[in-house]
Amino acid sequence: MSEFRNKIAQFADIDENVSFARLTTMKVGGKARYVVYPYDEFALEGIIEVCRENNVEYKMFGNGSNILCSDDFFDGVVIKLGRYFNKVFFNGTEVVVQAGYSIISLAYDAMKKSLSGLEFASGIPGTVGGCVFMNAGAYKSNMSDIVTEVQVLHDGIIEWLDNTRCEFGYRTSVFQKNEDWIVLAVKMQLKEGVREEINELMQDRQKRRFATQPLDYPSAGSVFRNPENGFSWQYIDKIGYRGKHYGDAAVSEKHSNFIVNTGSAKASEINQLIEDIQQLVRDEYEIELILEVEKFNWK
Ligand SMILES: Cc1cc2nc3c(=O)[nH]c(=O)nc-3n(C[C@H](O)[C@H](O)[C@H](O)COP(=O)(O)OP(=O)(O)OC[C@H]3O[C@@H](n4cnc5c(N)ncnc54)[C@H](O)[C@@H]3O)c2cc1C
Repeated sequence: MSEFRNKIAQFADIDENVSFARLTTMKVGGKARYVVYPYDEFALEGIIEVCRENNVEYKMFGNGSNILCSDDFFDGVVIKLGRYFNKVFFNGTEVVVQAGYSIISLAYDAMKKSLSGLEFASGIPGTVGGCVFMNAGAYKSNMSDIVTEVQVLHDGIIEWLDNTRCEFGYRTSVFQKNEDWIVLAVKMQLKEGVREEINELMQDRQKRRFATQPLDYPSAGSVFRNPENGFSWQYIDKIGYRGKHYGDAAVSEKHSNFIVNTGSAKASEINQLIEDIQQLVRDEYEIELILEVEKFNWK
């Protein structure tokens, strides 16, 4: 692989044999052969080309806050934009931001400029790219409410897609249907507001999160999407799984749609809880709980 490594090194900073525990908020998983931080769009294209030529698998990672990696080794390349794709430009009420930037930082930047619209995102620990991919949201607001255009790299071209072409839905977007599309940057339309009021709303939301979510342990946020009728946590409670644990992997006592790592959980233990819950809810209520968290590198 060293020739491969040398080629990639033209385009990016490289780390080798990195534990997924360092790359995800769940803090579990095996190791990745390479983690790369491309310098710019051209470098990113170069990396993808080299991976394809060498039949090496690659995967985009934002902040890893919605990914459950298996305990296995990943003999491929994790691409992270956070190091070099993190510029933000404000022009009046419009924001243009690169995909690697933290959405929490962006929410605070906007607040300082008295711009309203991102308050809902001030507790979501993802990158702008990951949040667009997931159409992340909270408190009845979603990324799709503020995103006007998304700059995407696909099939060797870079283009701006308007909001409708992003096909946003509940925690879905067109980017989930097209695995090789890469979000590079996003334009958002915010509104003028009052800085103190925006700040107050953000602090209030943050307090609510601390009161209702197990933020003192590593997790990947909500594990399941809510079904059409009701909430996933209600079904998890009904099957008696609140507090259930395998080793250090536990269904949170505080919020049963969170699985937390209380020490040195294995991905396989978390996965066992997930599969148990899906099976029991299916058997008892004929409801399919769909994962919101994405499983990566599972055979
Ligand atoms: C404590 C906690 C609270 C949370 N609260 C919320 C919440 O309130 N609302 C909510 O919606 N989510 C929440 N989440 C989940 C998570 O933060 C979101 O899903 C977020 O959008 C993921 O962003 P990320 O950068 O971490 O993406 P990752 O988890 O790294 O990646 C998610 C997916 O996006 C893809 N991706 C990442 N970047 C790009 C890119 N540039 N181009 C193309 N694809 C890309 C990845 O390949 C992967 O498939 C929470 C998570 C935690 C741990």
